[in-house]
Amino acid sequence: MKIVVTGGAGFIGANLCRIMIAHGQRPVVLDDLSTGSIDNLAPLGDDVEFVEGSILDAPLCAEVLAGADAVVHLAARPSVARSVDDPMLTHRINVDGTMNLLELARAAATPPMFVFASSSSVYGANPELPKHEGLATRPRSPYAASKLTAEAYVLAYQETYGLPALAFRFFNVFGPLQQAGHAYAAVIPAFIDAALREVPLPIQSDGEQTRDFTYVDTVATVITQAVLGRITSPTPVNLAFGSRTSINVVADMIGELLGRELPREHLAPRIGDVRDSQAANDSLRALFPTVEPVSLAAGLEATVAWMTATTPA
Ligand code: NAD
Repeated sequence: MKIVVTGGAGFIGANLCRIMIAHGQRPVVLDDLSTGSIDNLAPLGDDVEFVEGSILDAPLCAEVLAGADAVVHLAARPSVARSVDDPMLTHRINVDGTMNLLELARAAATPPMFVFASSSSVYGANPELPKHEGLATRPRSPYAASKLTAEAYVLAYQETYGLPALAFRFFNVFGPLQQAGHAYAAVIPAFIDAALREVPLPIQSDGEQTRDFTYVDTVATVITQAVLGRITSPTPVNLAFGSRTSINVVADMIGELLGRELPREHLAPRIGDVRDSQAANDSLRALFPTVEPVSLAAGLEATVAWMTATTPA
């Protein structure tokens, strides 16, 4: 089976390739290495084929997608904060880039299965919890708007052209390979990185905001099942399991794993961030009844171990 993973040199993508290889596949990665790294794929050796290039390069994408049975489209300009700084660039990559791939997929003699990485940020300012897929979407950032737009195109191509598709709304994914040490870092790597460098944990706002964290192997397992089983849905599907943990509790758990009290520093809330997030997971459970998520505690332990091993002393 030919499976193309766009953004496969990134955090979720490289973990997905590892899980796909464990399922006997040899994924083809298309990545421009803008936020990803070839180092993430190095341990996978020849079990993965790497093509360096952009999803905005239509002729290159045509070569890479030729004969594909499935496309897992993860390539994006990630993060709310990046989109606030440069909304047009986020639109170009996240929306125009997705359109490039969709146009190629629909032109194929046998259209590939198309899996898309959307985001819980599309729920945005809607305060209702848990977030079920029927809720009104109220994006609070250009990033969220770009994900909602791209997701709508993916599902419209399924309706209009019969492209087999699945648009997942990822919540807060965490695990090994997620990068800290830059201004747009996600909360868990940012906290572990601060703890290992023995500087205060940067807590935006009062730390009582909540998130539904999903370990990356769980996300990769669900995507792999979707591709191998050709599981599609006419509506978006939340990819999270309905937990709700505050940022302060995550900080406590990391402190317990490291065996010490971690000093904290409170910062202003980030523009575009939502206060609370928790997924309804009925759709996910109905489509993937056998997937058991890795717990937050076990996932944090593996992540702390990986960051400890890879952070220079
Ligand atoms: P990441 O930055 O590690 O991965 C994105 C990858 O896409 C990188 O390898 C990057 O180099 C590549 N890329 C960016 N622009 C490209 C382009 N023009 N052409 C080709 N490749 C390009 O981020 P991630 O956390 O692994 O995110 C993967 C996907 O999941 C993204 O679409 C993101 O929006 C989505 N998502 C992630 C989360 C999360 O919690 N990590 C939550 C919701 C949605």
